[in-house]
Amino acid sequence: MGDHGNEKNNAPELSGYFTHRKIPDAISSYEDSRYAVFGVPFDNTSSYRRGSRLAPDYVRQAYGNLESYDVAYNVDFTEVPVCDLGDLGESEDVREVVDEVEYVSGRILKDGKIPVMIGGEHSITVGAVRNLKGSSMIIIDAHSDFRDSYMGNELNHACVTRRALDILGPDRIVSIGTRSTSKEEFLSGRKDEVWFLPASEVRKKGIESLFPEIEKFLGEKVYFSIDMDGIDPAYAPGVGTPEPYGLKDTDVQFLVRKLSKKTLAFDVVEMTPVYDNGNTSVLAAKLIQDFIGSRESKKTF
Ligand code: MN
Ligand code: MN
Repeated sequence: MGDHGNEKNNAPELSGYFTHRKIPDAISSYEDSRYAVFGVPFDNTSSYRRGSRLAPDYVRQAYGNLESYDVAYNVDFTEVPVCDLGDLGESEDVREVVDEVEYVSGRILKDGKIPVMIGGEHSITVGAVRNLKGSSMIIIDAHSDFRDSYMGNELNHACVTRRALDILGPDRIVSIGTRSTSKEEFLSGRKDEVWFLPASEVRKKGIESLFPEIEKFLGEKVYFSIDMDGIDPAYAPGVGTPEPYGLKDTDVQFLVRKLSKKTLAFDVVEMTPVYDNGNTSVLAAKLIQDFIGSRESKKTF
């Protein structure tokens, strides 16, 4: 009974008797899948409230509360070929984890599938982005994550956007929901190379009226990374570094729906079950369903 997710395929008649560390709709084999879900239980560079390493199974558990059919998309998720590979092995070494994420997501992409990564903290995103040179990136985040290095580590979760800039180059990244940035980051000569769209501007203008510009900026190949703290703590309290005055849950749902068909890889990170009241894990699970559902839907959003 490994934890790499093939039990259900090998012994379907026994599956109801055992607990599985996989999202309930992930009943496809890897070979047949179009989406490969995996968890990354890592939070070692988190500076404030740790615990995101525990998130993957909480998100999977919360997913169990959702219907397998979504009427908005007219999609039955059990008919979508999704597999859940389980979690990467635990490690405290950020370099090792980021390299492993690079390898695993690279392999999934080479096999023509969409990686759907459940964090863990935001630092893991850098590994996946390394496989997507030439694409653009949308980040949902309260923080600019733009330090060149933090606590002596350039792979710290406070440096994600900066590392992504190193990989993707200028004018390829939009980070939405920004409301926390250090003076050092604010004054860094490179911050204009990323489009930081503050939560206050989204609130003022509305995400729908900002969207045409976002869509044009991103082009046709997109990496979509959701740091759950980009969403207001009222909707998503279970995060490592909460920040007031954030995005609405439906702002993020709107962006996921609009961009899913252009998205090559997707992640949801920084959810921290220790501080959750249950809403953050189910929102993370729902955003994964929104991603897959809208991508598979015959409707356009
Ligand atoms: Mn972040
Ligand atoms: Mn953040």
